[in-house]
Amino acid sequence: MPLSGGDRKAQVKAMRDARFIAREYFRKSVLARSIGELKIREADRLFCDAWTNVVVWGGVARNSPTIGQAINGGRPLLWVQCKRCGREPEFDLRLLRRPADTPVHLLEAALFCEPCSAGRKFRARANLLGLRPELLPPEAAQQKQGQ
Ligand SMILES: [Zn+2]
Repeated sequence: MPLSGGDRKAQVKAMRDARFIAREYFRKSVLARSIGELKIREADRLFCDAWTNVVVWGGVARNSPTIGQAINGGRPLLWVQCKRCGREPEFDLRLLRRPADTPVHLLEAALFCEPCSAGRKFRARANLLGLRPELLPPEAAQQKQGQ
């Protein structure tokens, strides 16, 4: 249906306003999403630290963060201790081929100490001690201190 001159002008103005509103809403949605992602990362970090504080003192390891939460929260290193020799190696969860929604405490059943298990009938099991932040290489740590 053909529009009169006045209707065409009104339509052009309405489209311009709609585009302006759409750009504004899009900008706000990007900002809201980034704030939300930061909040989720903070929640994951706090959850990992809370769980580590319980587990490191011998508390129950159930209800642990998932692998995805540990990585997102900046605590990608699983800290364990061999029940036999007491060594405390760390595993980088980012290198594991497990689904991201796997709770970290379920990994305990698959953990064993290689040096203590070599040549023995039963493998030496390991205890979970918690989740740790990534250790920076020495040169990166120095740069960070210099800032
Ligand atoms: Zn060992």
